[in-house]
Amino acid sequence: MNLKDYVASIHDYPKPGIIFRDISPLMADGAAYREATKQIVDYAKEKAIDMVVGPEARGFIVGCPVAFELGVGFAPVRKPGKLPRETISVSYELEYGTDTLTLHADAIKPGQRVLVCDDLLATGGTVKATIELIEKLGGIVVGCAFLIELEELHGREKIKDYDILTLMDY
Ligand code: 5GP
Repeated sequence: MNLKDYVASIHDYPKPGIIFRDISPLMADGAAYREATKQIVDYAKEKAIDMVVGPEARGFIVGCPVAFELGVGFAPVRKPGKLPRETISVSYELEYGTDTLTLHADAIKPGQRVLVCDDLLATGGTVKATIELIEKLGGIVVGCAFLIELEELHGREKIKDYDILTLMDY
């Protein structure tokens, strides 16, 4: 199975000049979704993962079935104001302005081994902030798994000290 057959490329979305890689056909196909999940689970199996963490919203779609298969928990990273209990937060630079991500303050216990999952690695800002949140709580990021990497944006360089799995490159 070629997973790229299940990614739709949408030109000029959300802005002119951007090609958006849409994973909803992959999610909509049981065999493709299962295959993508299996490839990440196989990568993570030997890493003694304690928790999976994924940024909203598509990080949940990728991370939750992986956590389920590994038999571990999942913690969501969210935009400010979305998590109901005490949170920690990290801000990061965007092309124009900044963005902030939050995590429940008790989501990760010190020393826990964490796998970060998201649908797509672009500039790496989202995953870098997610890693910072996990490390603030004393977690150890032992891997970062993505369905898709946009190579020309060099996000990989932002997380070069970490182990990375990507299933498809564009
Ligand atoms: P980064 O922070 O690496 O620049 O951007 C990655 C984040 O933006 C991911 O959470 C991802 O969901 C979202 N994203 C950016 N571009 C795309 C895209 O073309 N397709 C999808 N599915 N997500 C994208």
